[in-house]
Amino acid sequence: MTPPDLKDAYAQVCDRIATSAARSGRRAGDVVLVAVTKYATVDQIQKTLELGVMDFGESRGQHLAQRVAQIDEFIERNAKLAAAAPRSKQLVPEQVRWHMIGHLQRNKVKQVVPLVSLVHSVDSLRLAEELHNYGARHDLTIDILMQVNTSGEAQKTGVAAPAVVHLAEQIDTMMHLRLRGLMTMAPYTDDPETTRPVFARTREIFEDVRSAGYVDPDAFNVLSMGMSGDYTVAVEEGANVVRLGTALYGPKPAGAGD
Ligand SMILES: *Cc1c(COP(=O)(O)O)cnc(C)c1O
Repeated sequence: MTPPDLKDAYAQVCDRIATSAARSGRRAGDVVLVAVTKYATVDQIQKTLELGVMDFGESRGQHLAQRVAQIDEFIERNAKLAAAAPRSKQLVPEQVRWHMIGHLQRNKVKQVVPLVSLVHSVDSLRLAEELHNYGARHDLTIDILMQVNTSGEAQKTGVAAPAVVHLAEQIDTMMHLRLRGLMTMAPYTDDPETTRPVFARTREIFEDVRSAGYVDPDAFNVLSMGMSGDYTVAVEEGANVVRLGTALYGPKPAGAGD
């Protein structure tokens, strides 16, 4: 299958996000699209930047480092061109935000944290402690989301729903972490409607954490849920970050690793 035309695919995604946001009483601008680049080509990522997308996500540490280097070089080259020809339009954002969305091994913390704005996948006390120690050593406050295994599927990583508030309480004692919200993945399905209860429940857990008082209410405002197969439902249920790969870049190429 040939990849979809990126510009068309992006326009369609934006349109659907706007419609779903309106259904939940919000505007398209309230929802951040994270372009997940794990199976994208460098050329596709550059085109995504030219569309003005500023948020990118990777699920594997090694790829992340590679991607960041490629994109930084592209952005730098564009900035030089723009400086040389000041009247030409500078379309490419001057900086991007990277999101770590995949499982983070504790021994990868030092490689990943310096590259990203937000770690979506904090799924254990031990990982939180490792991140906190890194933050303390480098005098940083690290923005994180807690990944919740709302559906209870055995093969999914994430904190079990009943343990979320307690982990939030523990993270609240770690000065070098700032808990910004929750992330979840719904079970894979052909019928997005079946994901609705998972997203609705995650939204409830989000409210529970907020009202338990262990988070800074001004900072705890991110609900990262929805992938290519289910993002419209996720946004209707309150997501304000969606993570999309396939919807922009087409399906995983045959022979690609994960
Ligand atoms: C790969 C991945 C996505 C994007 O998946 P698509 O179905 O291709 O949109 C989103 N979130 C996580 C955690 C992922 O690993």
